Amino acid sequence: MRNLLLSILFFSCFGLVLPAFASLNLTDQEKAYIKEKKQITMCVDPDWMPFEKIENGQHIGMTADYIAIMAKEIGLPVVLIPSASWTESIEFAKARKCDIYSLAMVTEERKQYMNFTKPYLSIPVVVATKTDKFFIAELSAIKDKKLGVVRDYAIGEIIRKKYPEMDIIDVDSLHQGLEMVNQGELYGFIGTLVTIGYEFQRNYVGELKIIGKFDKKWELGIATRKDEPLLYTIFEKAVASISEKQKQQVLNQWLAIRYEKVIDYSRLWKWIIGIAIVLIFLFYRNFLLNKYNKKLEQISITDKLTQIYNRVKLDEFLEQQEALYQRYQQKYSIIMIDIDYFKRVNDQFGHQAGDKVLIEFSKILKTNIRTTDILGRWGGEEFMIISPKIDTDKVFLLAEKLRQAIQLYSFSSVGSITASFGISERNQELNSTLDELVSQSDQALYEAKASGRNRVNKFTSHP
Ligand code: GH3
Ligand code: MG
Ligand code: MG
Repeated sequence: MRNLLLSILFFSCFGLVLPAFASLNLTDQEKAYIKEKKQITMCVDPDWMPFEKIENGQHIGMTADYIAIMAKEIGLPVVLIPSASWTESIEFAKARKCDIYSLAMVTEERKQYMNFTKPYLSIPVVVATKTDKFFIAELSAIKDKKLGVVRDYAIGEIIRKKYPEMDIIDVDSLHQGLEMVNQGELYGFIGTLVTIGYEFQRNYVGELKIIGKFDKKWELGIATRKDEPLLYTIFEKAVASISEKQKQQVLNQWLAIRYEKVIDYSRLWKWIIGIAIVLIFLFYRNFLLNKYNKKLEQISITDKLTQIYNRVKLDEFLEQQEALYQRYQQKYSIIMIDIDYFKRVNDQFGHQAGDKVLIEFSKILKTNIRTTDILGRWGGEEFMIISPKIDTDKVFLLAEKLRQAIQLYSFSSVGSITASFGISERNQELNSTLDELVSQSDQALYEAKASGRNRVNKFTSHP
């Protein structure tokens, strides 16, 4: 453990040798543009460490290192236009006071006036809260809570679009957001793993924690003024020319600094081991909670006796299929299955033997369907199979195969039994709602029973 930590520390403090710069392969047009341009003006976020910040009029942080690499490649000086906030930087860019954003994520709104290169940083988006809050498996678990995000950050626009019901509060900066969380004015704050982690180390050890992660990442690249498209193609090449090695180097430098500044080396070990233990504990707790949540979800959709899906899951899956049908006219079929004379099984052999038949019966069905089919217990001794993208002719063959497999099987302590099958297909000519589809399979099943049982019957409009 000690050795491992030592080597992590060693590598994170160790700078790598600067690699030789690759040529950008600029077109003649791009070269002419650069010659004419003389300098590139840049707007940044003045308070977004370790990505970037303005300190004594200087642009510093990971982004500043990247910009330096790219400026050298392009062969033009990049000049900082200082601003007091990110919101002000946005105003400047709109007014064309600056040619580029050093680090920005693409949004629909911003695409109106800027072009965006491919990202050179891709950072997980997380939620920070006070330590007494629970970990969450997905964001929807806290959608009714007040969450903060820095005003005009791309992620605010994206989250508002994805979770319109969420109560997202604009704050002026990361500092203000975390302070409001700490004071209990906000439930949580949404930011990047890197910037929040950086703040935690400095100001909130033991007070705040990260409770969950978004599936979307914060993808950050260079944004260039839209009215000068050549600038965009030039930066696209400059971004592409940054090597993995250079990225690693920038990352290491800025993540290493936080140890150097905050902690005196004689106490470093206590800190690292302490933090490692806390992290391991938090990850373990998160892991257990996730596992527990998954298990709960599994239980809620599984039939206790047969261990196949229950009615809840079948209904959910039917609704999903119906949505696909409505949207893409993607057909699906259902098979309703009912065991023949099952009351007699119970009467003759007892309820427990009946239960056993249901278990074995489910297994036969399960082993004979395709992986894309959904099998569940509809109720009692009735089962349903939902087959996406399949019409009744193919489903008929499947049902027939199942019918024969059941007929041939010898059920323990009961012997042979049979079942009847009703099939229907979602098809605008036959039905117009999901309910109608289900009742048509019921009707087909009823007819299979009436015409002698142990058979497959498909619903048709002209019986
Ligand atoms: P049919 O061929 O017309 O379907 O005749 P049937 O006897 O199967 O009639 P019906 O479908 O109406 O009867 C279902 C029976 O299944 C009634 C009930 O006692 C039995 N049953 C329902 N759920 C369970 C269960 O979980 N375990 C056992 N052992 N029996 C069940
Ligand atoms: Mg029945
Ligand atoms: Mg029955």
